[in-house]
Formats: sequence, C-alpha cells, structure tokens
Amino acid sequence: MNTPPLVPKIKRSAAALASLVLGIASFVVCLGPLAAIPAVICGHIGFRRIKRARGTLKGEGLAIAGLVLGYVNMVFLMGLVLQTVNHMRAQPIKDCIKNLAIIEACKTQLVRDYGLPEGSEVPPALWQKYEAKRSFDCPSGGNYDLGRIGEPASCSIEEHNSWHQLAWPGYKKIWKEEDEKRRTTPRTVQ
Ligand SMILES: [Zn+2]
Repeated sequence: MNTPPLVPKIKRSAAALASLVLGIASFVVCLGPLAAIPAVICGHIGFRRIKRARGTLKGEGLAIAGLVLGYVNMVFLMGLVLQTVNHMRAQPIKDCIKNLAIIEACKTQLVRDYGLPEGSEVPPALWQKYEAKRSFDCPSGGNYDLGRIGEPASCSIEEHNSWHQLAWPGYKKIWKEEDEKRRTTPRTVQ
C-alpha cells in the first residue's frame, strides 16, 4: 500500500476570496461602500493570514484584487461625494449671480425708459415696480445694494460679488451704447 506523502494541504484563504467577491460586488451590484469597505477589511485580514500561514494558505492574488477594487471604489465614491458637495456649494452663488444680473438688466431698462444719467441713484419709486414683479433675495441671506447707474450692483456676501465683477464690463458696455443712442437720436415728443 502506498501512503501519500505528507504534504500539508494548501487551502485558499476565505477572507481573500470574500474580499474579491465583495470588491467585484461594490462595482457590479452598485453596493458601493456597503461592499467596498468590507472588501478592504477582508483583503487586509486575508493578506495577513496568508503571510502568517507560511505557505499553508493561498489566495494572495485574490486578496490584492479585492483590496484594489475596494479602494478604487472608495476613491470613486469620495470623488462623487466631493463633486456633489461642490455642486451644492456653488448653487447659491449661481443663483445670487443670476439675481445680480437681473438687477443690472432692470437698471438697463430704467436707463432706457427714463434716461437716468450715469452716476444717478436708482429712484426707489421706480425700483418698486421691479420688486413687485419678483423678489430679489440672495439665497445665502446677503443684502443687495443696487448701486448707482454706471456702477455694479452688489451683494453683501463678498464671494458672490467677485463673480459678478467678471460680468460687469458687459453691462457697462450696454449702458454706454444706450447712452450713445439717446444722445444721437432726437427725442420724439409723445
Ligand atoms: Zn448673494
């Protein structure tokens, strides 16, 4: 009778296999962090056990694959979260810039309709007509200063202004053109 040689049977690390399965699941089944975090934990456990087993445990490749998939998924998710946070942070600024743009458009209309000269203040009585139609509320609670004709309107939150300043030369140009037109075309008596 032949007795089999005494070679220790090499088993596969269950933790390493679990890590790979979870790593794949984090992408394929869209489990995201629910699978990615355990994949990373299992990967590290599997890796340590394989190292300690000194050759009696295999599955190093599985553990590495599981770890990589788990970490990549977590980085991917973190990017997604950061993008969402950035988007949410930018929204009030965008809305405020939109308000400032509408204020400038209303001021342009005032210049057009009433011939307000540069440097004059926006008459509150005239402004009420615009305010009655829509509310100019900064989404972050800032206060608006309409500014004089020929000067930019501003929000009390500095961050919102810095962007409006970029668009400002465009409005200024429109007003200059309006002013020019008014001076060159004779006024018709209504
Ligand atoms: Zn604002």
